[in-house]
Amino acid sequence: MRLAVAAWGALALASQPVAAQVDYSDLRCTYELIVLGAGQDAGAPQIGNAEDEGPRLLPSSLGLIDRNAGKRYLFDASPAITEQLTMLDGREPPTDGLGVDGVFLTHAHIGHYLGLAYFGREAAGASNVPVYAMPRMMEFLAGNGPWSQLVELGNIALQPMADRSPVELEGGLEVTPAPVPHRDEYSETVGFSISAPRLGEALYLPDIDYWPTDRRGPLLIEAIERFDYIFIDATFWDDNELGGRDMSEIPHPRVTETMDLLQDRPVQDRLKVHFIHYNHTNPIRDPGSPESREVEERGFNVARRGDRFCL
Ligand SMILES: [Zn+2]
Ligand SMILES: [Zn+2]
Repeated sequence: MRLAVAAWGALALASQPVAAQVDYSDLRCTYELIVLGAGQDAGAPQIGNAEDEGPRLLPSSLGLIDRNAGKRYLFDASPAITEQLTMLDGREPPTDGLGVDGVFLTHAHIGHYLGLAYFGREAAGASNVPVYAMPRMMEFLAGNGPWSQLVELGNIALQPMADRSPVELEGGLEVTPAPVPHRDEYSETVGFSISAPRLGEALYLPDIDYWPTDRRGPLLIEAIERFDYIFIDATFWDDNELGGRDMSEIPHPRVTETMDLLQDRPVQDRLKVHFIHYNHTNPIRDPGSPESREVEERGFNVARRGDRFCL
């Protein structure tokens, strides 16, 4: 886990402005982040749960708009990409074609990359959409159908990323991947720092098995001090969630545990936290649940589809 810790340490910049709770609903900022989905990979209702009448969830994904450069980016390509791109179009229409100037992939689990298929022949038939991927992820996409066909036909153009190396985007934004511990069958797993230099910086970290620590303490404490917004893994609420199943072997930090870890931080730090990637069983899925209220009362936020933030 030293890698991950070193990653954020090496990324540390001069102190950033503190995130404020501002109503951005009418604001059109230069650099805007939009939550396109806040659910776990399978969304909700999950397959085989026709009786589930709870709030609908799309898999976790963020959109990023750079209005100066006229560019739009996606963080993760979820199976709901068609609907999610429509949401982004509603906020900032594409300048040309699909208007996807880059897709940043965290890892090869279904909620995070299956949407790439919609750039292919049977759907958009896109041309050279830049897809930023870590080395194993790149190899996986280039070496296995149907993804390899997207590469061969030039629907997507793979762009290599490396640990802790910022990707500098036209217009001044920087995106930096850092490895995190997760179930890595087909690819590495990374979180992203999304930075508008001298303005603000966000962390997108939808999937992690546990919060790594080093001698200075949990990596998460370092992150909450550094970033203006952190969108972090909230897959499960607590250990009682899966109907009596023994959850001790199931990874992911529980939301209750993450809040306990951060509860002593100043309120302006706690307000930076936006819980994302929640499972269909997680009660924070319902904005009206006692658990959602608890999150807010303790000074944190639950990311909801459509939430927007200025960097
Ligand atoms: Zn996931
Ligand atoms: Zn995953």
